[in-house]
Amino acid sequence: MTDDRGYRTRALTILGATGSIGISTLQVAEHLGIPIYALTAHSKVEQLAAQAKACRAAVAVVADPSCYAELKRLLSGSGIRALAGPAALNEVAQDPGTGAIVTAIVGAAGLEATMAGVQAGKRVCIANKEPMVMAGDLIIAAAAESGSPILPIDSEHNAIFQCLEGHHQSEVSEILLTGSGGPFRTIRDLSAVTREQALKHPTWSMGPKITIDSATLMNKSLEIIEARWLFGIEPERIRVLIHPQSVVHSMVSFRDGSVLAQLGRPDMRVPIQYALTWPEHVPGPVKAPDFAQLAALTFETPDSERFPSLRMAYAAARMGGVAPTVMNAANEMAVAAFLAGRSTFLDIFRTVEHALSQVVAGGQTTLGDIIAADADIRARLAR
Ligand code: NAD
Ligand code: MG
Repeated sequence: MTDDRGYRTRALTILGATGSIGISTLQVAEHLGIPIYALTAHSKVEQLAAQAKACRAAVAVVADPSCYAELKRLLSGSGIRALAGPAALNEVAQDPGTGAIVTAIVGAAGLEATMAGVQAGKRVCIANKEPMVMAGDLIIAAAAESGSPILPIDSEHNAIFQCLEGHHQSEVSEILLTGSGGPFRTIRDLSAVTREQALKHPTWSMGPKITIDSATLMNKSLEIIEARWLFGIEPERIRVLIHPQSVVHSMVSFRDGSVLAQLGRPDMRVPIQYALTWPEHVPGPVKAPDFAQLAALTFETPDSERFPSLRMAYAAARMGGVAPTVMNAANEMAVAAFLAGRSTFLDIFRTVEHALSQVVAGGQTTLGDIIAADADIRARLAR
């Protein structure tokens, strides 16, 4: 190990700093002494201004333009520049002041800023999985062109990334993508489950949208497609395994029968830190699990009858084109409706299934096609 650590010289921009991943990233950055260039938020300006002042960021961006005056007022006299609007997210992602980005926006809203950072050749640490589902092939191709290193933060993908280091895809027989199974793993009848029950994740503490996605297993579905693009492995060779203890974050099964796994506590600061410090493992705020205290590590096959989201992901992946975009947008809309109390838990599956049934399979897609398909399905579902 050297003292001249690269990560301390790469000023960080956190897209979505006020959320669960954003807050954890700020803790890791402070622990590691990483300077902050920009922080962004959707509309929570008070939290954003307080975070920007605490870490002495150069810029704070609020995506909702109607919050600009308030952000400017809160930052007056601090020397921190205030910016607003979705285009300002792209601007900070590309700015020469940014060395690395953590994408921690939730949903499709992070797509263009992710792409902007990749095209500008930044080190892009990806938590925001929805853009990878929509346009993973285009993002990976843009990274190959710009030389942008893509580091996965999603715990499963960070685990797979670690297991694959020093290996080639051709050595892999299967990726074993683990998931806790969510709060309804053992509940037979899902017709009457409530929002409050769905928001109680058994092992991870996360933002509301991904917590609902974990309850429907749609999170695992999105992760199958995310893994497909990140690691260049066909969906048929990506298998979901339910692992309720959330200690084994995923595994790679090689052709010779050897299986590598990455283990750790269910704490996102571990994968966030490794994305920032890769290729080095350096001391951080989280300890390794105490294996003597773990009663058991168990694995089971997911129930795709109760959780049809998994087969929807394989279907969307097979269809290609804009199908994963439509699956993702329909899910975002359905989760928002469920969180707002306008629909039931099972309506989420119905909405996504119906939206997918309307998609014409295949075809080459551009970023423009993807953005248009996303807007189109949202407009149709909002009616
Ligand atoms: P969150 O809801 O806690 O935070 C979301 C952040 O995005 C906030 O800062 C919010 O201001 C910002 N945001 C929301 N809508 C926006 C918009 N339209 N424009 C600009 N900014 C917007 O979400 P989270 O749980 O931190 O998850 C963030 C992403 O990371 C998601 O894609 C999620 O799937 C992924 N992820 C999260 C975890 C976790 O532990 N929370 C784990 C793995 C992956
Ligand atoms: Mg995950």
